Amino acid sequence: MINKKYKWILLDLDDTLFDYSQTEYNSLQSLCVEFFGKFNEEIYKSYSLINRKYWTAFQKDELKIDDVKVGRFKELSDVNFPGIKVDPKILSERFIDYLSESTILLDGAVEFLEFLVDNDFKPSVITNGIRRNQLSRLKLSGTAKYFDQIIISEEVGFAKPRKEYFDYAKAKIGFDNDTTLIVGDNIDTDIKLGQIHGVNTCWFNIINKENHSEIKPTYEVKSFQELKSILLKS
Ligand SMILES: [Mg+2]
Repeated sequence: MINKKYKWILLDLDDTLFDYSQTEYNSLQSLCVEFFGKFNEEIYKSYSLINRKYWTAFQKDELKIDDVKVGRFKELSDVNFPGIKVDPKILSERFIDYLSESTILLDGAVEFLEFLVDNDFKPSVITNGIRRNQLSRLKLSGTAKYFDQIIISEEVGFAKPRKEYFDYAKAKIGFDNDTTLIVGDNIDTDIKLGQIHGVNTCWFNIINKENHSEIKPTYEVKSFQELKSILLKS
């Protein structure tokens, strides 16, 4: 075996291994069909706008997380299904159930994980998310077995890119900064985590987003294939 630069590979989950857009779409469809007997593109567009509005307010500290989880479904049903009254808390819980059951992986994700294990890399998960969702999706998709450790922000009490999250992950995984690569689709969480704590990063940018921030990844790839070449050549 040739000497490789990287040993520990820290992987984000949503939109890095799992197809989150499709997961969210399917979960919303199941929810609307179950409670309102109807779903279409207009409802999806309406949800997307409402959801973004609530998350933006959360990021500005104008709302608490529970207000986001429940408030978005209150507004969704008020706007799209005015005649039907369903407790938005129930909608929110059920939506999380549907998300937890969804295991849509991006094309090539399993082959990539096999590649990591076959080539003696040590993959772990670093994800911002709800513990119940993420563990369930890893287990149901059959991918949990590939990982040394699974570090979920809800469990840590802090999210990427916070120092508390990084220190917790480092202690649990036992990685060495110089031989670790962080891989993720999000500049503000994944790439920033590596940049501020001294670990190389790979921006997994399969949908060709533009980077308008000051945060620069060490590498940028558009496919698992490109990522494999970096890992083998470095
Ligand atoms: Mg992600």
